[in-house]
Amino acid sequence: ARQDRATGYCVFESGMDETVKARRALETDLRRALALREFALVYQPQFDLQTRRVTGFEALLRWNSPTRGTVSPLDFIPLAEETGIINPIGEWVLRTACRDAANWPADITVAVNISAVQFAHRTLATTVLSALSDSDLDPRRLELEITESVMLDARGTALGVLQRLRGTGIRVSLDDFGTGYSSLGYLRSFPFDKIKIDQSFVRGTAEDPGNRAIVRAIASLGQNLGMATVAEGVETAEHLERVAADGCTHVQGYLISRPISPEQVDGFLAAKSAE
Ligand code: C2E
Ligand code: CA
Ligand code: CA
Ligand code: CA
Repeated sequence: ARQDRATGYCVFESGMDETVKARRALETDLRRALALREFALVYQPQFDLQTRRVTGFEALLRWNSPTRGTVSPLDFIPLAEETGIINPIGEWVLRTACRDAANWPADITVAVNISAVQFAHRTLATTVLSALSDSDLDPRRLELEITESVMLDARGTALGVLQRLRGTGIRVSLDDFGTGYSSLGYLRSFPFDKIKIDQSFVRGTAEDPGNRAIVRAIASLGQNLGMATVAEGVETAEHLERVAADGCTHVQGYLISRPISPEQVDGFLAAKSAE
């Protein structure tokens, strides 16, 4: 901002002004989107390399705005987190994913992304347990995907909530492993069921031996700690062969399937089991 010499008022540079306006407009639309039923979930399968079967689906949020079109979660989740709107949105995601999964075969799981901000909200555990009981979903069929940022909570309340939830049978996955604030210590501080290896290491060029060494190291760490390891972002048969040889237990990515609508899940499972 600069001060206008004539009036003494602060005026924002026009670029800044536009950014602030755009954010406000996005926030307003985001607040309305839940009530207007503009959110939807799509589901991407996770595939077990040993049994060659789909074991579950990750729920991914989509915002179909009548004015903005389809907005990527990467473009609205950061603002939803800053404003706290992620709490009601996250509750909707949990309830919807549990309700959808309750209609799937009993051995198929659903994974839900939980933001670190949701852990700061006192009601998270209650919300998760009520989503399960309202949908009649077996807790063992729900996986919570969290990133390392959750573990940064100094008072350890997030860890307590996670421990309590895992005690009911819910599984917990460490998402985007290898990026951000990665620390091997986090793997020791909580008994994760799964480690999800970030796509950047999986898709990093075959020629880059560094990426491959990291995938191998994480897979062997998972094996030794009794945790499954999912390679994310597997797009080609070559990626799949490489991560399988490197010891990953599961894959997720466009090669198996892009995220699909809830209506497509039954057909997808039927086609896969006929293969
Ligand atoms: P994520 O949790 O790491 O989810 C995986 C992302 O990778 C998804 O992007 C998925 O569509 C994409 N993906 C999967 N396979 C491939 C592949 O083979 N190639 C490529 N290029 N991409 C692949 P999406 O759906 O755009 O979600 C982006 C991020 O937004 C997610 O990353 C997650 O951090 C966040 N997100 C999505 N849904 C939710 C939600 O319900 N709650 C919260 N808190 N965050 C969410
Ligand atoms: Ca995820
Ligand atoms: Ca991820
Ligand atoms: Ca991510």
